[in-house]
Amino acid sequence: MYSYNKSNSGRGMAFSSKRGRRPGSGQSGRSGGRRPAGQYIDPARLVRVARLAEAVDYQAVNKFSDFQVHALIKSNLTTKGYEIPSPIQDQTIPQALLGQDIIGIANTGTGKTAAFAIPLLHKLMTEKGSGALIIAPTRELAEQIQDECRSIAKGSGLSGALLIGGSSMGAQLRDLKDRPRIIIGTPGRIKDHIERGTLKLSQFNTVVLDEVDRMLDMGFVGDVQFILSRLADKRQSFFFSATLDARVRGLIETFANEPVLVSLKTTDASEHVNQDVVRYSSASDKMDKLHDILLKSDVEKVIVFDETQRKVERLSQELVSRGFPADAIHGGKSQGQRQRALSRFKKSDVTILVATDVAARGIDVADITHVINFSMPQSYEDYVHRVGRAGRAGRVGHALTFINQ
Ligand code: AMP
Repeated sequence: MYSYNKSNSGRGMAFSSKRGRRPGSGQSGRSGGRRPAGQYIDPARLVRVARLAEAVDYQAVNKFSDFQVHALIKSNLTTKGYEIPSPIQDQTIPQALLGQDIIGIANTGTGKTAAFAIPLLHKLMTEKGSGALIIAPTRELAEQIQDECRSIAKGSGLSGALLIGGSSMGAQLRDLKDRPRIIIGTPGRIKDHIERGTLKLSQFNTVVLDEVDRMLDMGFVGDVQFILSRLADKRQSFFFSATLDARVRGLIETFANEPVLVSLKTTDASEHVNQDVVRYSSASDKMDKLHDILLKSDVEKVIVFDETQRKVERLSQELVSRGFPADAIHGGKSQGQRQRALSRFKKSDVTILVATDVAARGIDVADITHVINFSMPQSYEDYVHRVGRAGRAGRVGHALTFINQ
C-alpha cells in the first residue's frame, strides 16, 4: 500500500503479462526476432522544417487559486511550482468539478495528468467512501500518473494501489486488502484482479482512461470494456486521447454520459520537430553515421529507436563500448531495470536512451533534443509518436531517420 503522505519509490517488477501486445511492438515475449513487414512510409514524409506551436499565446482564464478545490491540493500545487493552469487544465478542471464527464483531446506534455488528477483527488478528499480508478496503456505511464497524484495529494492520507503487469502479485494483494481509494493500473492486471475477486469496483465512482487511442492500438479494448462494466453505475468518467477517431468515439459513446469535449490539440507534436533522413549503404556505414551524429555538440539528449528488444540491447552495448553514455529500455528488461534506465536518462546520467516503441511510450522527458530512428517505424503513426518525444515545452526538436540507400 502506498500512501499520499509520503514519497515511495516504485517496486522492482519483471515482465510476465501476455495481453494486448501488438505484433513486433517490442514489449511482447518475443526475444527480438524479425518483425512482420510494416507499412511503407514515403521518405518524403520524413523531411520537414519545424514550426513552433501557437499554443504559447494561450491566456488562462483561471488561476489555481480560483478553483474550488481542497486547500491541501492548492498548497501542494504551489510547492510543485504550478502557478498558471495549462490550457487543458484551465478548461477541464472547472467542468470536472461540476461533475461532468470529460473527453480531453490533448498530446502528452500538455499537463493532462493534473487536469484529471486535481478534480479527482479533490473528490476523494471530500467524498467519503468514494474511489477512483485510473487506467493507462503502459506501466511507465501508470507510474508517472502515480507520481503526479502523490505529489498533488501529499499529506492527505489517501491510500492507493498500483496494479501493473510484471509487478509482484503478493504486494498488490496486500495493498488491495487495505481498501485503497485510488487505483492506478494497466488494463490486463486490473482485469486479472477483478477475475480473481481481489478487486471490487462497485464503489468506484470516478474513472479515467488515459491515452485511449494507445490503449486501443495495443489491443486492450476488450479488457477496458470489461473493467468499465464493473464500476458504479453512477459515475464520472474522464477520457483522454491524442486523437478522436471512430474507434475512440465508439468506446466513449458506450460509456460516457453527456461528456464535455475539451480539445486543445492545435498541431501534431511532430510539427515542432525538424525532420530529415540519413542515408546509409551498409551496416558498418550505418553505425559510423550514428557515431558521427552522436558526437555533434547540439545532440544533447537523444532517444534512438530500434525495432526489436535484441537489436536495442545490442545497439546500446555497442554505443557503451564506443564510450557513449547510453542505456536501453525494452520489454525484455525487468520493470526495475527499465525504471533505472529511465531515471538515469531523466537525470542526464546517460544522455542516450535506446528504445523500442512500446517501451518509450508515455515517457515524459522534457529536454530530449533529438529522436533518431535507427530503424523505420512500423507505420507513419508510430513515426509521429516517436518524433513527438523531441520538441517539447516550446522548443524545436530534431528527428533523423535512417534509410537504406
Ligand atoms: P503531462 O502532460 O501531464 O505529462 O505533463 C507534462 C509536464 O508538465 C509534467 O512534467 C508536469 O509536471 C508539468 N506541468 C503540468 N501542469 C503544469 C502547470 N500548470 N505548470 C507547470 N508545469 C506543469
